[in-house]
Amino acid sequence: PPLHRQRHQFVIDFVKRIKPQKVLDLGCAECSLLKQLKFHHEIELLVGMDIDGAKLKRKMYELAPMITDYLQPSNDQLRIELYQGSVTQRDARLRGFDLVTSIELIEHLTLADVDRFSEVVFGYMTPVDVIVSTPNFEFNPLFPGNAGFRHHDHKFEWSRAEFKSWALKVCLDYGYEVEFTGVGQAPPGQQESVGFCSQIGVFHRLGGREAYNMLFCDGAENMFSYTLVRNL
Ligand code: SAM
Repeated sequence: PPLHRQRHQFVIDFVKRIKPQKVLDLGCAECSLLKQLKFHHEIELLVGMDIDGAKLKRKMYELAPMITDYLQPSNDQLRIELYQGSVTQRDARLRGFDLVTSIELIEHLTLADVDRFSEVVFGYMTPVDVIVSTPNFEFNPLFPGNAGFRHHDHKFEWSRAEFKSWALKVCLDYGYEVEFTGVGQAPPGQQESVGFCSQIGVFHRLGGREAYNMLFCDGAENMFSYTLVRNL
């Protein structure tokens, strides 16, 4: 399957295993991951956010209950919300999630904004689990005619070592542990030397539920900086 599907399937497999109730997809674009997640019945709150409001609206109607939903047992518990906003800004409504996903998002940020992202996601939203995917620069020579980055809007593409050093700093600063993996296999024999095409860090907050509750009660601020686009 194409790489973007493999990345989303990675999240879906994680959701099947961990069964989070509140899931937030950052940089959700046209909501394609959310559309697949809405069939996972443990999920009670599914939220998407993106800086690009037009992109967000383009296909959001597909998230609404459809005739075809009746072919699958419906999920009465499910609430869906879409926000337009930036991952560099805090919004109190997005705190306390079980799972936050950031699929091919951070490489679109300047390094200064990546620091803000780290602070907002790990320091403020404080979800239990976070999945971050980003291109692995070391894999690029395997693309035919490769020159430079994979996309003109990418501000950087990290080697495995660079991704690891960012991720480990996040863990130290905000109290998480991380496992490294990825999707998109190199040809046989080259996996070790180049790694996965998309590298993935799966972060887990140390200290569990209690740590979150303490933080939550602590900061009594109610910051709403995002715009609610859709409430289903
Ligand atoms: N996550 C989707 C996926 O897996 O297909 C889309 C990834 S797309 C390459 C990157 C997305 O990040 C775009 O939709 C873009 O609008 C969004 N984005 C870029 N900067 C952002 C920011 N500061 N805050 C929120 N979203 C942002």
